[in-house]
Amino acid sequence: MVDDLVLQSLPHALERSVVNILKREIFLLFRPMLTKACGLKVSHYPSSSIFKCFCMRMELLDIPCDNVVIVLVHLYFTEISNSLFLARWSKNARSRDGASY
Ligand SMILES: [Zn+2]
Repeated sequence: MVDDLVLQSLPHALERSVVNILKREIFLLFRPMLTKACGLKVSHYPSSSIFKCFCMRMELLDIPCDNVVIVLVHLYFTEISNSLFLARWSKNARSRDGASY
């Protein structure tokens, strides 16, 4: 019986469908994954090849976070956008004294 479960994640319709098919103990194992997935927010602006992610790890590390990589894979990207890396991480980057790495 799952009637006493309070729906916590969005979208509630998806959560409700899971409640209706899973045993309570399995649903309680699954719910945190659904809640986490619903909290993931990645925006993609194709015209400028810009990605924004709620986690802000890209801004911290200057490489794509796993959430953005998931979107790239999901959208069947075959090339990585230069906008996802700092120019200094490129093989063609040069140091201030002109040496390449
Ligand atoms: Zn992220």
